[in-house]
Amino acid sequence: ASLFSAIDMAPRDPILGITEAFNADTNPAKINLGVGVYYDDNGKVPLLQCVQKAEAKLMEQLSPRTYLPIEGLAAYDKAVQELVFGADSAVIQDKRAVTVQAIGGTGALKIGADFLKRFSPDSHVFISDPSWENHRALFESAGFTVNNYTYYDEATHGVNFEGMLASLRKMAPGSIVVLHACCHNPTGADLTQDQWGQVIDAVQQGGLIPFLDMAYQGFGAGIAEDGAVVRRFVDAGGPLLVSNSFSKSFSLYGERVGALSVVASSAEEAARLLSQLKRVVRTNYSNPPQHGGKVVATVLATPELRGLWEEELAGMRVRIKQMREDLVAKLAKAAPQRDFGFVREQVGMFSYSGLTKEQVGKLREESIYAVDTGRICVAALNSKNIDRVVDAIAKVL
Ligand code: PLP
Repeated sequence: ASLFSAIDMAPRDPILGITEAFNADTNPAKINLGVGVYYDDNGKVPLLQCVQKAEAKLMEQLSPRTYLPIEGLAAYDKAVQELVFGADSAVIQDKRAVTVQAIGGTGALKIGADFLKRFSPDSHVFISDPSWENHRALFESAGFTVNNYTYYDEATHGVNFEGMLASLRKMAPGSIVVLHACCHNPTGADLTQDQWGQVIDAVQQGGLIPFLDMAYQGFGAGIAEDGAVVRRFVDAGGPLLVSNSFSKSFSLYGERVGALSVVASSAEEAARLLSQLKRVVRTNYSNPPQHGGKVVATVLATPELRGLWEEELAGMRVRIKQMREDLVAKLAKAAPQRDFGFVREQVGMFSYSGLTKEQVGKLREESIYAVDTGRICVAALNSKNIDRVVDAIAKVL
């Protein structure tokens, strides 16, 4: 037997499995609603103008490909801090926030998880029920026990807030609670501002460690609006970790641009923290790649390009909202027996549509692909495919 003969096949990634089936489908009218990617009205992943202009600018001043510092490009880390905490944030002025460039939002979560495992090894991690499917695996692979906290309410298609609060209040002090800062994946159900206030109180009173995952800043109500929750956590005091990603907001999926920011209680503590974060990075991949970070830093620091980015991001946000409106209006006509009004209240790229696994299976017979949980990517709908989707949903209900 070979060294590897006893190794089992790892379970397939459920979402990538959908894409494989979609790619193999020869129906030219096939539609993939299973993805986690924003498509424009032509069904294409956009290459943003602000990105193209930043790249053109970088091409004019070609530079050697030296290693970046372990914590990443300084201009990038600074731009991230200003975006995430607000340019006038006291944690930036007081040097209490540290930021390291990361390999996408996923990499940021993993650096944070590895870091926490070193300094809070016995903590349990809590993720929402349900959550982004990689959260559990990622924290487990860092060595943590991962539990769920109550989140989604199937009956209302919204948040079971009383249940969530009860879960938070039961957690042992020092527990790590992973919260979606906005645009909850997979449900699309977000907390209200008032509910966030109560969550922050519960986190404070329980001595919990909040880890905000912000993969969709700008896809909810706006860049500053979506980031407001980070600022509220900062104002409440206490430790805070924030992972953020530019995969969606810059349509830079394959460049892997994200960051981890950690808020400490003093500048001196922050310096020690940064040294440890660098150790985690150094022992994983040494230092991050240059290109994506340079593009994002250039856009964020160049007023003209930043204005363009804000417009383009608003365009994506508005188009998704329009697709929600259209889906609700069209389904009200095609399937009046069922109320889909909740789709309008959901936020971000996704909707838990309420479709069952069986119904999703029947949609697949029409070459329309969704996740078994009923999650659909609203950002994959467009003016050309929405009628076919609506007709198919009406048929399988
Ligand atoms: N966190 C959540 C909630 C996500 O939905 C995603 C991506 O889908 C990520 C993190 C990871 O982002 P990235 O692709 O930048 O690694």
